[in-house]
Amino acid sequence: MKRIGVFTSGGDAPGMNACIRAAVRTALSRGLEVFGIYRGYQGMIEGDIVPMNSGDVSNIIQRGGTILKTARSDDFRTEQGRRKAAENLRKYGIEGLVCIGGDGSFKGASILYEEHGIKTIGAPGTIDNDLYGTDSTIGYDTAVNTVVQAVDKLRDTAASHNRLFIVEVMGRDAGFIALRSGIACGAEAILVPETPTYIDALIQKLRDGWNRQKHSSIVIVAEGDESGGAYEVAKAVKQNFDRYDVRVTVLGHIQRGGSPSAYDRVLASEMGYAAVEGLLDGKFNAMVGRQGREIVFVPFEKAIKHNKELNKHLLQIAATLSI
Ligand code: ATP
Repeated sequence: MKRIGVFTSGGDAPGMNACIRAAVRTALSRGLEVFGIYRGYQGMIEGDIVPMNSGDVSNIIQRGGTILKTARSDDFRTEQGRRKAAENLRKYGIEGLVCIGGDGSFKGASILYEEHGIKTIGAPGTIDNDLYGTDSTIGYDTAVNTVVQAVDKLRDTAASHNRLFIVEVMGRDAGFIALRSGIACGAEAILVPETPTYIDALIQKLRDGWNRQKHSSIVIVAEGDESGGAYEVAKAVKQNFDRYDVRVTVLGHIQRGGSPSAYDRVLASEMGYAAVEGLLDGKFNAMVGRQGREIVFVPFEKAIKHNKELNKHLLQIAATLSI
């Protein structure tokens, strides 16, 4: 393999730049030529491809977002679109790809291999941490820290005004951000899609707390929780327990932005490095993962299809401590 391409795809996540930097510099140090593909699969189809050198990735390790931009490409979902993408890659002599993205991006890469034989290694770049086979995805730690900083601020005002804040965090299908940030913030309740939500029990818990002189509370809700999200929870609480001044905060896209944490920078560096080493070692259709202290390669099929479970121990801790 002499030439590889690097791209980011799907939702952006803090640490993607650190991963791009690691992949580019590792490839250069191994004597490869590297091309940056802008705007994910859409840029691949449109031929938005440029050579990259070491200087192109200077001063980006600390920056959120992705210098290569990212996109969701409907064209790539079509056979014609993928053919065009493959033609462009061949035009540049690109034989292997490093894809920094989530499950959809890896699915697209698998199809590109099946149809056109182009080999891809994935690095999991998503704040949701919902990929099987890695303890953490690039961006997850930063997103959790962003939530914690925001909720700490909300707690100050909650305590001053006897308020209940219902805070909605990202996680359409997964409660990883909610669970970890909820424990870190000492939330009174954490509602996640993976476990049933009993609103009556939540209200009783808040009532019990109030009766014990606990006059400010924080409830963290993952956006995909069956309750329907923070506004629905707030409505139900207001209807059934009117002592609190109930407020809703939806943290939204601030969770995707910001400078990556040290943890994410190191993880992204390890993963970008391993992705290129893996490609050179003949690995493809696989995602780089971190399991404990080990860097591993997880077949795309497993990373995408196996459901990653929430840590039961953390769920237990959250239930025990949030009284
Ligand atoms: P995130 O987890 O942040 O949402 P993602 O990689 O899962 O990231 P998606 O939007 O699901 O984000 O996928 C990114 C792109 O991958 C899509 O816009 C599309 O171009 C391509 N893709 C996803 N699924 C398929 C598929 N089944 N066939 C072909 N291409 C696909």
